Amino acid sequence: MKIANFNGVGGGTILYTAHYPRMHPSDFRVKTLDGVADDWPIDYWTLEPYFAENDRVTGVAGLAGDPAYPPHQPTMPPVPLGKTGTVYAQATNKLGWHWWPSDIAVATTEYDGRGKCINLGHCTPGCAQGAKASVDITYWPRAIRNRVELRTRCRVREIATNEQGMASGVVYYDANGVERFQPAEMVILAANGVGTPRLLLNSASSRFPAGFANSSGLVGKNLMLHPWPMVFGYVDEEIDGDRAPQTVMWSKEFYETDLSRGFVRGYTLQFSRGTGPVNEAITSMAAGRLPWGRDHHRVFRSLHYHRLLIGVACEDLPEEHNRVTLDPVLKDGHGIPAPKIDYTISENTRRMMEHGIARASDILEAAGAKNICCSRTLLNYPGHLLGTARMGFDPERSVVNEWGRSHDVKNSLSLTAASGSPQAG
Ligand SMILES: Cc1cc2nc3c(=O)[nH]c(=O)nc-3n(C[C@H](O)[C@H](O)[C@H](O)COP(=O)(O)OP(=O)(O)OC[C@H]3O[C@@H](n4cnc5c(N)ncnc54)[C@H](O)[C@@H]3O)c2cc1C
Ligand code: SF4
Repeated sequence: MKIANFNGVGGGTILYTAHYPRMHPSDFRVKTLDGVADDWPIDYWTLEPYFAENDRVTGVAGLAGDPAYPPHQPTMPPVPLGKTGTVYAQATNKLGWHWWPSDIAVATTEYDGRGKCINLGHCTPGCAQGAKASVDITYWPRAIRNRVELRTRCRVREIATNEQGMASGVVYYDANGVERFQPAEMVILAANGVGTPRLLLNSASSRFPAGFANSSGLVGKNLMLHPWPMVFGYVDEEIDGDRAPQTVMWSKEFYETDLSRGFVRGYTLQFSRGTGPVNEAITSMAAGRLPWGRDHHRVFRSLHYHRLLIGVACEDLPEEHNRVTLDPVLKDGHGIPAPKIDYTISENTRRMMEHGIARASDILEAAGAKNICCSRTLLNYPGHLLGTARMGFDPERSVVNEWGRSHDVKNSLSLTAASGSPQAG
């Protein structure tokens, strides 16, 4: 697995698929329930009003009443299941397993000045219609109206400290590569699960020799990446391929722990429409399904608009050996040490992946799919960079407190997914 993120205004949401599941109450209590990882210092119900507010600002389509999901009220009607969703639903019904239309951050009605989805195609590389909610068109315009100043093409090198050991501002390079200092009363870091520890570690000083806010030694540790096998196959009937938002529905049948499966915690099955023509051609050529020559067009037509694709969104547990450190050699264009990633898929996660691949294959078989294949890990996907600044009550066992505030430096906050068990996405 390789790290994927997007550097720009809006961050990873520019490039995301806009699938919008919340965490479940159990995700906050894995130590208590399953004896692994940690409990969060907050629970689902503390966060619930903020999930709801974020859904309102973002605009989330979905259907209330999912029996396997915390109660909530999506802001818009769900994305229609379409032909692909109907095939999945019928197959999953045959097996008697849970499914429900997904929460998706795509406008299905006009919303907050944004146009509604007109099924242009796949949403991941960006939505020309503005129906996919990315942070550049949701939060940023509001922030700018409230007089937040946005400085683009800037790169922060380090957080500076004053004599009292408080954060005093940041040192950064502006768009012309000129070094600047921005004084601050408070510093808030939201540079994702790789960029945040990179910056904290690069802000080491005589006062904080192991890195800023790192008296626990946990900055950069417990990196989680959500391994995400993709299982796909081809049905005879023509379905809607890339002619609507990619994600259709989810199954939470295997989300919660059932020890008879041989692992703790679980996964979401994420049902997707097929891929676009170029991706179908490239991946099928590489896999040997699509020949050159006389049969090329005939075979291509049997593949494109016939693909079913199920993602297995696996929980990953926090393990200290999975970590971000500073690379001793590599540097970026400003001479700032690059992040170095050490990551190994754990035995628990590997078993979960194999279980999910088998269940997704069962659904594809029940749908009558042929040529069922699986990519166990995908290059540059899923781009979920989690952990690395653990949240907790104990300053010796965590980096930030229950408010995301550094235990060591009271005027700095980290807004990176932290602690035990983030299953969102
Ligand atoms: C292909 C893809 C598909 C995805 N699909 C989904 C999905 O369907 N659903 C879902 O929930 N999630 C999805 N994700 C994940 C989701 O996009 C991320 O989890 C989310 O955007 C992370 O938000 P963040 O604010 O923590 O970090 P980011 O969005 O990564 O933002 C961090 C920002 O900080 C900037 N930064 C970092 N370091 C510095 C520095 N030193 N100086 C200045 N700026 C800096 C970065 O350039 C970036 O703009 C997907 C991700 C990818 C890549
Ligand atoms: S299907 Fe097209 S219009 Fe709809 S959200 Fe995706 S990219 Fe935008």
